[in-house]
Amino acid sequence: MKIRMKSVVLAAGAVTVLSVILPAQGPAPAPAPAAAANPTKIVFLGTGVAVADPARQGMSLAIIVNGKPYLVDVGSSLVRQAAAVYNLGAGVADLRVDALQIAFLTHLHSDHTLGMADLVLIPWLSGRKLPLQLYGPTGVKNLGEGTLAAYKEDIRVRSNALDKNGIKLEAHEIHPGPIYEDQNVQVKAFAVRHGAGWDAFGYRFDAGGKSIVVSGDTGPVDAVAEACNGCDVLIHESETGEGPIFDPGQPVKHMVGNPNGPAGHTSSVELGKIAAKAHPKTLIVTHWIRHGDGSQDDMMREIRQNYSGPMMVARDLDIFVP
Ligand SMILES: [Zn+2]
Ligand SMILES: [Zn+2]
Repeated sequence: MKIRMKSVVLAAGAVTVLSVILPAQGPAPAPAPAAAANPTKIVFLGTGVAVADPARQGMSLAIIVNGKPYLVDVGSSLVRQAAAVYNLGAGVADLRVDALQIAFLTHLHSDHTLGMADLVLIPWLSGRKLPLQLYGPTGVKNLGEGTLAAYKEDIRVRSNALDKNGIKLEAHEIHPGPIYEDQNVQVKAFAVRHGAGWDAFGYRFDAGGKSIVVSGDTGPVDAVAEACNGCDVLIHESETGEGPIFDPGQPVKHMVGNPNGPAGHTSSVELGKIAAKAHPKTLIVTHWIRHGDGSQDDMMREIRQNYSGPMMVARDLDIFVP
């Protein structure tokens, strides 16, 4: 199936709305009335990795369904990124800061969790009146409660003027399988492989008639294709090139991780194989890890060795409407 991608730059290049226009031939399917009024959206708040790349914030995205944002991962600056999308009027009025109230963590690496204090505190200051709901692997409770403990003085001083519930949090340590359901979404977790000795999860969201799968950080595993199985959107990490990880924030390039261990990330070639098995309606690459002189063109070429379907590479503040 052939698609054209449409990119609309709304404000000085800061926010790009991405939508798929289908098909080139044949009638377009009629959108459901509810979807037309307020379609499900995916907002990429941060697409970066652990290196200090000033162009890419820490990993975080929001899936917005019927006006409610569901966060996946809470990397650095996620609340300001949400405010950027809200304030720029990119059709995401639902991404108000005080509406950030539920998050699903794929794993507890810092590039996916440095925004925890941001998420706990700033939406509360902005008027959140419900406890923050956190879902994630073993350790998410400690991360949430530890954040409250670390900011105890700030919370004590501000509490007189703010809603008491908005600074509470409920952390849910999960196992693979269905983990959450409300009137908008059903969320299933599946185990992926990202280092030894701890849990890492991917998630499948069935939301507003759309199916969205997020791999999290993982080496190549069958569970991703099984979870997707023709899903509307597969959001997957990728790494390209050889040698040290390219770090634009650090003049001395350095190795990260254990080069002799099992792959904790998915090469672009492997991602192409996974996408070919998963056959998503759209593959979106995020959390791209660049080694040495590997380029984005290299990455796309390597994916294309095995996958010919619709594909894009997410940048910070991209908005995708499945
Ligand atoms: Zn990561
Ligand atoms: Zn990681």
